[in-house]
Amino acid sequence: MIIDFHTHSFPDSLAPRAMASLIPTFTAIASFSPQTDGTASGAKKLLSEAGVSRAVVCNIATNARQEPKVNDYAISLLNDGFFCPLGSVHPDSENIESELDRLKAAGIKGIKLHPDYVRITLDDDRYDKIFAQLIKRDMFVVVHAGRDPISPDKIHATPEMFRAVIEKYPSLKIIAAHMGGFAKAEDVYRHLVGTGVFIDTSLSSLRDSEKEVLYKILSDHDENKILFGTDTPWSIPTREIEFIKNAPVSEEKKEKIFYKNALSLLGI
Ligand SMILES: [Zn+2]
Repeated sequence: MIIDFHTHSFPDSLAPRAMASLIPTFTAIASFSPQTDGTASGAKKLLSEAGVSRAVVCNIATNARQEPKVNDYAISLLNDGFFCPLGSVHPDSENIESELDRLKAAGIKGIKLHPDYVRITLDDDRYDKIFAQLIKRDMFVVVHAGRDPISPDKIHATPEMFRAVIEKYPSLKIIAAHMGGFAKAEDVYRHLVGTGVFIDTSLSSLRDSEKEVLYKILSDHDENKILFGTDTPWSIPTREIEFIKNAPVSEEKKEKIFYKNALSLLGI
């Protein structure tokens, strides 16, 4: 079984506009080429063909005004048994508690935060309230980590910042995306391997220059704290699967990475 812990889709009516705005940045700066039309049905088709049986959808509230609509979309995806949608809150929102309550009551298990999209670094105190409220509700958080094409010159969530978060909130279930930090593999190895921070493996197949360090991270990080992900539509799922299949780790650890750790975090 394979569970993909990191995918994106947009409501059908917004997908063409959302993709049109993201594609130029993503292809120019990072040579990511989109593999779907941005819709949920497009993601489901691509991932099913690659052998993925469930997909976590990482929705992002890029401003406080958008937050309820983003969460409405997340909740609407619950009707499709293929998806495990995540909600989102904005650090400046006045409705963090009520939105988290609404998500939790609907059956949503966690949220996604993207410090680069909101231009607030992960060491800002505005995240404290969010982390405390997540712990209270036993919800997890996926956070974009490392370089993002949307902010190529300033990284808003570094491996050092994740380390500080887990030291302050040891019981927080926090997932640092992209192996703990896109384009920051050496720093991930130094600061995050061996800590309680979860990492997802998304976009690994696009990181040739960091491949050796990524495999060292996979070998040495806690076997219970690594989750397979693709970042669909921004990478090719079969290549992301190959990357893990070829990793120098035991078959038991690969099973944990591909689905067992996801099942336990998602409570399914
Ligand atoms: Zn992503």
